[in-house]
Amino acid sequence: MGKAIDDISASGADWIHMDIMDGSFVPPITFGAKMTANLRGRTSLPFDVHLMTQTPEKHIENFADAGADYITFHLETAVHAHRIVQNIRQLGKKAGISITPSTPVSALECLLPFVDIVLIMTVNPGYGGQSCITECFTKIEKLTRRRQEHGFNFLISVDGGINETTAPNAVSAGADILVTGSTFFNAADKPAIIKKLRG
Ligand code: ZN
Repeated sequence: MGKAIDDISASGADWIHMDIMDGSFVPPITFGAKMTANLRGRTSLPFDVHLMTQTPEKHIENFADAGADYITFHLETAVHAHRIVQNIRQLGKKAGISITPSTPVSALECLLPFVDIVLIMTVNPGYGGQSCITECFTKIEKLTRRRQEHGFNFLISVDGGINETTAPNAVSAGADILVTGSTFFNAADKPAIIKKLRG
């Protein structure tokens, strides 16, 4: 994990995106707040924590204490999403909301004035190396329109199957943040792939 953080830091990437999987909302288990805290001193890049967990409200404080700068959770896991967004912000962190490929943007409508990030999953969460479901890009277009119409300030992040082919389409749909896993870690020249993805 330390090596991965060092590789990202040296590559010219802007943020470190951390997929926290709990073995329940998604089958795999990755790592938790303790590991996040242990990595915090290794880089000055922001930690963009993506909670792929049930009951995200139970984890917010631990990840805030661990040094997360952004904490994003899944709408599909939250009964009181607005309250969780408020809790994240009360802890001095930026709050994000994410939806899986099967959840429509309309389900987010009431949260859009309150969030700092909307993260659109373009694969079903749980496993790296999946192909991007490009139909999800229409969700990014919808969000871009909503943001313009209402003057909202959230950033649009896209996560899943982002590579040199899919990145330009995500950006032209309005994405501000490109999350990449396999494309980065499989690349021999990591600074070069970051440069390419920036376009
Ligand atoms: Zn993620």
